[in-house]
Amino acid sequence: QAKSTPSRKPVGYQDAIVQELRLHLELAHCLPRAIELQEFALYFQPIVNTTELDEPIQHYEALIRWDHPIKGVIPPDHFIEIAEKSGDIIAIGYWVIHEVCRCLSQPSVPQNVGVSINLSPVQFKEEMLVQNIAKIIKSYGISTNRITIEITESSAMQDNQLTKEMFSEFHAEGFKLSMDDFGTGYSSLSYLLNFHFDIIKIDKSFIDNTLVDVQYEIIAQTVVKLAHDLKLTVICEGIETDEQYKMVSDWQADMIQGYLISRPKLWSEFY
Ligand code: C2E
Ligand code: MG
Ligand code: MG
Ligand code: MG
Repeated sequence: QAKSTPSRKPVGYQDAIVQELRLHLELAHCLPRAIELQEFALYFQPIVNTTELDEPIQHYEALIRWDHPIKGVIPPDHFIEIAEKSGDIIAIGYWVIHEVCRCLSQPSVPQNVGVSINLSPVQFKEEMLVQNIAKIIKSYGISTNRITIEITESSAMQDNQLTKEMFSEFHAEGFKLSMDDFGTGYSSLSYLLNFHFDIIKIDKSFIDNTLVDVQYEIIAQTVVKLAHDLKLTVICEGIETDEQYKMVSDWQADMIQGYLISRPKLWSEFY
């Protein structure tokens, strides 16, 4: 019967959608239990000064993974959005803060080592978010100036006034603020000028595009200059090759992060 009424859509494509939806539902269903059982793992990726690659690592970005008992390690891109929709990101976010503190407070870790933590815009809506985070960090005896908060440009950030207040609260508590994934959104520049960031991270896709289209390099160089005029630190993400390292050094980018230096690893592999 199916043979006499052939579908116009390629079946493989439909299958892919159904499969993705099924995975989505499955993960959404498992998330609350995963939080309860703490099935997450935090990985850390070094961020190093462009001119001091051989110095001891002083800063890392914390990157979450879901250690699923059957599916194995699930990357954040597969579940953060789901957790944002369900609200589970709130609990996950606090787990991340605690885990970062647990790692930083190990005796073998130098006091000058800092960590960047990714924050979801959904977390902004939490009442007392900044105070709660600061309280947790201080309860471990860790200084808030060792922590950088990474925030991605996002359409969810419509409430400028509230966001600005949150930014000044973070600064008042001693945190640094970093604009993540610069160059991937539509309004990166206005966002940069409207909110008081300390650091910008130029996204990997931007670095990659310079190899395809020389215009990207001209824009990137201009962005680095602008950022420095605004007294911001510039980090280039996703540096994989010596060629890319040389390129962003020429731009005078302050710091780099990428597989060339290290993949994200467990804290125990560093300390
Ligand atoms: P992000 O914050 O922009 O993190 C950088 C991503 O680039 C990481 O992917 C990292 O593994 C990857 N990366 C770094 N260097 C290279 C490189 O040289 N080559 C390639 N191909 N990739 C590189 P990851 O760990 O899969 O994280 C993806 C995104 O998930 C993050 O992007 C961040 O937006 C989000 N995320 C991760 N952890 C958390 C978290 O704890 N909370 C929240 N809300 N979001 C998180
Ligand atoms: Mg980040
Ligand atoms: Mg990024
Ligand atoms: Mg990203």
